[in-house]
Amino acid sequence: MKYQKEIHEYLELHQQEMLDLLAKLIAVRSVQGDPAENAPFGSEPANALRIMLDACEGFQTENIDFYAGSADLNALPPKLGILAHLDVVPEGDGWTYDPYQLTYEPETDKLYGRGTSDDKGPATAALFAMKAIKDLHIPMKHGVRLIFGTNEENGSADLEYYMKKKTLPPMVFTPDGDYPVINLEKGMCRLKLSADFNDHQSYIIKLKAGDVINAVPAYADAILMNVKLQDVKTAVQDLQKCYIEIPQTQIDLDNGIVTISVKGESAHASTPEKGKNALTFLLKILDALHCKGQQGEIIHKLSKLYPYGETNGQSCGIAANDALSGSLTLVCSVIDMTTEHVTVWNDIRFPVCCTGSDIIQNMKQVLAPLTCESIMCDEPHHTDENSEFVQTLLHIYEHVTGLKGECLAIGGGTYVHHIEGGVAFGATFPGTDVHMHGADEFIKLEHLMLDAEMMALAMTALCAESSNGGI
Ligand SMILES: [Zn+2]
Repeated sequence: MKYQKEIHEYLELHQQEMLDLLAKLIAVRSVQGDPAENAPFGSEPANALRIMLDACEGFQTENIDFYAGSADLNALPPKLGILAHLDVVPEGDGWTYDPYQLTYEPETDKLYGRGTSDDKGPATAALFAMKAIKDLHIPMKHGVRLIFGTNEENGSADLEYYMKKKTLPPMVFTPDGDYPVINLEKGMCRLKLSADFNDHQSYIIKLKAGDVINAVPAYADAILMNVKLQDVKTAVQDLQKCYIEIPQTQIDLDNGIVTISVKGESAHASTPEKGKNALTFLLKILDALHCKGQQGEIIHKLSKLYPYGETNGQSCGIAANDALSGSLTLVCSVIDMTTEHVTVWNDIRFPVCCTGSDIIQNMKQVLAPLTCESIMCDEPHHTDENSEFVQTLLHIYEHVTGLKGECLAIGGGTYVHHIEGGVAFGATFPGTDVHMHGADEFIKLEHLMLDAEMMALAMTALCAESSNGGI
């Protein structure tokens, strides 16, 4: 590919500078904090942006009120935008390394630190890719813009603000997902269901499961009155006959009160088939007790609509799939029930063949008499696989890595979910678990260098004078 050799050599020569900048960025704990003047997401995300914009010296930079910042390659209108973020999630527990000191382990070629992969490493690579184009004096016929956000991890209010104030380039990718290219992201609905009990026939004193809407709940606990211990045991034994494997279930009796604790396995709501839903299993046990009254009816309904082991929404009548996006997923993720009230949360990811409004309408119908309200609904995101933009990125990926370039469809949303025509291009390589959001997050130095090389080639292939529309 044209300019590849020069770009590769330039990046090798400037590797230490790249690592110095990355180390400076990693040293900032750019977790969301309290808003202040010139710091809409707290002081540290703003500090990370300051450091990055200082490092962009020599390019025309712009600070969009500390929500985001940008750097332009030249004075031409940008055709390509690269969108990366400088905020991080909290470090959490279990680190072997200092999360805020960039540490290199030569034996494994890994650079450790919070944000090395997500997304400060790729942001740094983007800047050095642009420096390579400038310093090598590669003649360009279009501009390139780097955009650095500071709120991706907490709802992307940075991007929303940017899009209100500025116009995005026609082609935008974010190195904040996976290689080769993510071009399809399912739609997402979050539903809140509720009902009141006033018939004084309750048998569940307390039922609690799940902590977050976007995960399969790993635990579910119930405290019951007016039920026989033996009936609960029989219910579990009967379920054992229906399933090859059931979640670990503990039953206790104390002073006439029966407690049930179910331990399942968590999984992200975009891939619920990887988990074991403790909540839906507990619903099966409770339903098998055939209790009367409003509580008993609601339990029966929920148990029918969310059968243990089902993740495609079939029992709610919303199952759907298409060849591009795969199957709809539904997770009943959180429940909070007392003798007087119940609240339940659902996370639904749906393919491009569905619309959010149809799904919500359907769910409202099947869930009555429970009240069902949509607390969030995002339509699917899809960029044409055969566009010049996507084909160019896939070609670069194949050429540089020697791996097969293909488009990916995912259930989660990336930074470009609301950007028409946007895709994610890297920066996680297939088969590499970089411990994103976990302890000992890392990026391989080799991968960081490849990120920069591929980003520079995307700039030349799409925007250089010699480019013939891409490939
Ligand atoms: Zn990210």
